[in-house]
Amino acid sequence: MPHRPITVSGVEVTPLCDAVGPMGPAIRRPLAELFAGCGLPDEPWVLHFHCYLLRDAAGRLTLVDTGIGGDDSPAAVWAPVPGRLAGELAAVGVTPAEIGTVVLTHLHGDHASGAVAGGRPAFDNARYVLQQAELDAAAGPMLDDVVSTIKDQLHVVEGDADVAPGVRVHLAPGHTPGHQIVRAGDVAMTGDLVLHPVQLDDPGLPYLYDDDQEAAARTRAQTLAALRGQGAILATAHFGEPFLRLTPTGATPVSGR
Ligand SMILES: [Zn+2]
Ligand SMILES: [Zn+2]
Repeated sequence: MPHRPITVSGVEVTPLCDAVGPMGPAIRRPLAELFAGCGLPDEPWVLHFHCYLLRDAAGRLTLVDTGIGGDDSPAAVWAPVPGRLAGELAAVGVTPAEIGTVVLTHLHGDHASGAVAGGRPAFDNARYVLQQAELDAAAGPMLDDVVSTIKDQLHVVEGDADVAPGVRVHLAPGHTPGHQIVRAGDVAMTGDLVLHPVQLDDPGLPYLYDDDQEAAARTRAQTLAALRGQGAILATAHFGEPFLRLTPTGATPVSGR
């Protein structure tokens, strides 16, 4: 079931839980290896895989990330397929055709594979918002199976851009070259800017699967400091807790209604 929504600045934000589970054997590593120096135990990491549905006061719908996708997903080698995004949308009374804007934070298989279904765009009427730098770096199955399938619906942006009423994207590179985060009111949907809560205490902690670990750490530290200064609500892809309000010294869960 979807986690509970919150409403900020007239926009309802609903976390959709595409999957919960550990990474598959292909890339599974103990936490201590994924986040070197983190002091976490030598245990597997159990992730939630969250997408976020935004509904503005006029009823317009924006989807942030599209999850793991079906059994034929490029992410099937390591992520728990099939993702259940379609069922999560149905549970909140939304059909894929009603989505007007899809923001892809980046082209990793657990965020963008659900952009397509059965060799066609999964969201017929949506613009798919992607950063130019991410498009430039696209390769392999994410290019051949995903980007090429949605190419006629791509809306490519560079840097910061308004993509729907009250919804703005910001380039936040490092995890991937064109990784972007999404703002709606107080809520910052941060994709893979922050992977695990341990990085809130120490944004400098590297993540094994960041493309550029130094750039990612720099972006993470700068962005988290700015969000913390604003008392923003962090909405990550992979924490168990979908909403955390950043405080000067920590973070507290925000319960939905
Ligand atoms: Zn969840
Ligand atoms: Zn990623």
